[in-house]
Amino acid sequence: MSEKILKKLQILADSAKYDVSCSSSGSKRKNTQRGLGNTNGMGICHSFTEDGRCVSLLKILLTNHCIYDCAYCVSRRSNDVQRVAFTVEEVVSLTMHFYRRNYIEGLFLSSGIFKNSDYTMERLVRIAKTLRTEHKFNGYIHLKTIPGASDELVREAGLYADRLSVNVELPTEQSLVKLAPEKNTADIVKPMSFIRHTIEENRQEIQLYKHAPAFVPAGQSTQMIIGASPESDWQIMQQADSLYKNFHLKRVYYSAYVPVQQDQRLPDLHSLPPVQRENRLYQTDWLLRFYGFSVNEIFNPSAPNLETDVDPKLAWALRNLHLFPVDINRADYEMILRIPGLGVKSAKKIVAGRKFHHLTLDHLRQFGVALNRARYFLICIGWNGYRRDWNATEIKRQIIAGNAQSTQLSLF
Ligand code: SF4
Repeated sequence: MSEKILKKLQILADSAKYDVSCSSSGSKRKNTQRGLGNTNGMGICHSFTEDGRCVSLLKILLTNHCIYDCAYCVSRRSNDVQRVAFTVEEVVSLTMHFYRRNYIEGLFLSSGIFKNSDYTMERLVRIAKTLRTEHKFNGYIHLKTIPGASDELVREAGLYADRLSVNVELPTEQSLVKLAPEKNTADIVKPMSFIRHTIEENRQEIQLYKHAPAFVPAGQSTQMIIGASPESDWQIMQQADSLYKNFHLKRVYYSAYVPVQQDQRLPDLHSLPPVQRENRLYQTDWLLRFYGFSVNEIFNPSAPNLETDVDPKLAWALRNLHLFPVDINRADYEMILRIPGLGVKSAKKIVAGRKFHHLTLDHLRQFGVALNRARYFLICIGWNGYRRDWNATEIKRQIIAGNAQSTQLSLF
């Protein structure tokens, strides 16, 4: 690799690390017609840095030139950084070389905006098209949709990419106006809506014509920056919930704001990224998508922000002790799923297992239930839940003390 390309790669991979929406799970495609590579249902094309951020070796920007001046962005026009741009051929060549050497399993490609949205989007599309049609590249491609790009280019992008993402960037329109005044909500919502409808049309087409080309088979996603603007966790999750419902997003990614420059509109340059908050938002996102919770069950006017010392499911259970303990040998699946320390898999095992035995704590251990939390909230054969004279504060204290002694990890 030439020095020039290496230098570009260093700069454009470093600029791309602030975008966390790079998980690639959700697309399955076998290698066909002597193409190169395949995708599978497991997450590919991503790894995690020390601060928990999802990155990939070939997760790059096409360019860090940008005509916009979004306050939170390292590539903003007014930031004094070295500017470079790949050519279409360079990105194609890097992807093929890295893929052949088994360094990567896909491409995550975003870009600053040079000249205008369509000019930039057209290049992103050309890269994906060249990889697919000339090089028969069958690996995963995730393209960032440039706000304001035309429907025609977005449609074409969707025919070559597995996933498209349109970043909402900030949780509310007021913050977008304040921190990214050259962007507008309409330019973000329009492509999201277009992608949603085109996916639906494509599903019908594929039912009629088996060989109709697939449009973004892994769906669309978005990213929200957390902590650059003053919204509460409640506002952030209301926005996420509405994005899931209105645009059928596969994922909303929450990105803890990393201060990159001093700006009076933003947190101090020396403040730490709110990584713990980001983690709690992801947990809440799971509760909405897989555990049957609604946003307004998790938050209320007196608790608009998530607790940092306990996960959101445990916090909810402690606020609703009147619903516990739950008898796991009788309760509905939906209520079993709400017991802290229990995941979807263990809840299913409980419902299946209790057809054959009355379940005990030993059975629950075998099912992988995190009893350090769950035992306060359930009844089973030989176990009668927490002591009635314990209140939420006491249970929480015991759980936190028990967690400090235990190294066992579990989800919810
Ligand atoms: S448009 Fe994108 S790349 Fe340009 S400054 Fe805004 S966030 Fe950064």
